[in-house]
Amino acid sequence: MNRRQWFLRVPAAGAAGLPWLLPPTIAAKAADPPAANAQPLKITDVKTILTAPAGIRLVVVKVVTSEPGLYGLGCATFTQRARAVETAVDKFLKPFLIGKNPLNIEDTWQSVFLSSYWRNGPVLGNALSGVDMALWDILGKRSGQPVYQLFGGKCRKAVDTYRHASGDTLAAVEKAARALIDAGQRHVRIQVGIPGLETYGSGPKGRKEEPGNAKEQVWEPRAYVRTVPKLFEHIRKQLGDEVELLHDVHERVPPILAMQLAKDLEPFKLYFLEDPFSPEDIGYFEKLRAVTTTPIAMGELFNNPNEWVGLVSHRLIDFIRIHISQVGGLTMARKVAALCEFFGVRSAWHGPGDVSPVGHAANVHLDLAIPNFGIQEARLFTQMEQDAFPGCPELKDGYYWANDKPGLGIDLDEKVAAKFPIGDDPPFDYRWGNYRRKDGTIVKP
Ligand code: MG
Repeated sequence: MNRRQWFLRVPAAGAAGLPWLLPPTIAAKAADPPAANAQPLKITDVKTILTAPAGIRLVVVKVVTSEPGLYGLGCATFTQRARAVETAVDKFLKPFLIGKNPLNIEDTWQSVFLSSYWRNGPVLGNALSGVDMALWDILGKRSGQPVYQLFGGKCRKAVDTYRHASGDTLAAVEKAARALIDAGQRHVRIQVGIPGLETYGSGPKGRKEEPGNAKEQVWEPRAYVRTVPKLFEHIRKQLGDEVELLHDVHERVPPILAMQLAKDLEPFKLYFLEDPFSPEDIGYFEKLRAVTTTPIAMGELFNNPNEWVGLVSHRLIDFIRIHISQVGGLTMARKVAALCEFFGVRSAWHGPGDVSPVGHAANVHLDLAIPNFGIQEARLFTQMEQDAFPGCPELKDGYYWANDKPGLGIDLDEKVAAKFPIGDDPPFDYRWGNYRRKDGTIVKP
């Protein structure tokens, strides 16, 4: 088979698989075209690796190919049901995928998505996403290019990020925010505790999970919506107008209180207010838009396009907040980004500790390549995370930097990962599902 015949046979690889068509500097790094007698690339194994180097259950998918040493990694982290995702990948997707061509990314996405007939949901979504990211990683490695290059190349030098400042008092939040600003952050999310209440995002990081499955977490919305404007007033007064401030309501208050809060926060010019409503209350976004110009971010709980298409196409949100490993990986996230581009909605992919470093790397590659990037939620990886995941995106001066290696540019040291087994007792953080009003009524977490 000559080069022209090979060109015609491998449309899925596109220009990425044609290093001799690339500029000399890139072509020098790219792989040689396959030999004339090369066998088609095949998937030979698919497996999950569960690890918790930062104490948070992470699920990573590894797709191995018939080419020696060529494999891809993807994030499939649904930390609240890690074993369910593990089963979905190991027992269902592995036998379905073995023998198939890993370069057929879109076709694989469609066939996996439909293979269960009943589809969507975080378990199947994460399983599919883990495979999808791994296939992009494989394509990048095989063509000798970073994934952002496959997406059309960098639109920016690095990825601007926000991090979390929290505390039990206004002064504690101020201190935490100052430390982040001193470290180079231009964007800071602020959350404050409410005395006597289990307030989202305000507690100490890495709080130990408790074995009891019925401990009540008391939560009342009124005190919260009274306190948050005072927090913003304090921080603006102490830290000025330059720093961009964010806040996450975490769908915890009745819709009408969220609307009041969004109006009350208007003078403080937020970068965005996140999740004012739950996905079940999606109809309120239209009403919110009519009464306030506070920018709105939404989406980390979204599972399927029906949940975001209307919000985006009716211009009811400003930032899309999806968890990329929940909605179908990079293949679907690219489509979401393109949809948003037409409606002036910017990206703010979910990026806390329950996104694995592989997922963070995937976020960064997409952030670099899309014109309508907004902001990236970021974290400073611990030494243990960096040991388990060599090639973590580097956080410097408030920016995430990609390392420009082929594929996602990140690896998983399985020996190190094995030193940090995930916890199965309790099998997840029981606080979720135990938030209740003082009278015992369950509330959204
Ligand atoms: Mg959130």
